[in-house]
Amino acid sequence: MNIIVIGGGAAGLMAAGTAAEQGAQVTLLETNEKVGRKLFITGKGRCNVCNNCDVQEVLRNVPVNPRFLYSALGRFGPADVMDFFENHGVALKTERGNRVFPQSDKAADIIDALFLWVKKAGVTIVHTTADELLIEDGVLTGVSAGHKTYK
Ligand SMILES: Cc1cc2nc3c(=O)[nH]c(=O)nc-3n(C[C@H](O)[C@H](O)[C@H](O)COP(=O)(O)OP(=O)(O)OC[C@H]3O[C@@H](n4cnc5c(N)ncnc54)[C@H](O)[C@@H]3O)c2cc1C
Repeated sequence: MNIIVIGGGAAGLMAAGTAAEQGAQVTLLETNEKVGRKLFITGKGRCNVCNNCDVQEVLRNVPVNPRFLYSALGRFGPADVMDFFENHGVALKTERGNRVFPQSDKAADIIDALFLWVKKAGVTIVHTTADELLIEDGVLTGVSAGHKTYK
């Protein structure tokens, strides 16, 4: 199966890597020259990766419509996030308020881990801007970006 992911932020990188690990041919379109750029500024450059608590506690602290997150967090909660990064070489620490950061205090380590993971999983990263979704007979069939079409 061919999958196109638009945007190489935290969400797009996780989506692309997961799909590729499950056997899909994944092309990730990212407008910037590097993926994960916004992650550099998260947590004042340290990236507050998640909170070291159970899913119920996360949901109790979501001010608006926590039920929206119920399914996603049930499948991949804070413990899974921590396992993911530790298994991909990022040592973590828990600070005041159960906030989890890389031991290095560097958000760049989170970006590097995600980048290396998607590359190892076989994701093709193309630095281009997705302009338009291509829809044929009501079915999404691809994306146009620059002068190219990705089916
Ligand atoms: C100052 C600040 C601090 C934060 N701190 C934290 C924190 O410590 N912990 C935390 O969990 N969250 C934090 N956040 C929130 C976090 O940054 C976002 O929740 C997260 O980045 C969202 O990821 P995303 O992949 O959905 O979107 P983004 O990170 O915005 O990624 C979207 C990507 O898509 C690309 N893109 C957009 N349009 C196109 C297009 N047409 N074609 C190709 N590519 C395109 C963009 O270039 C970008 O790389 C912080 C946010 C800010 C602003």
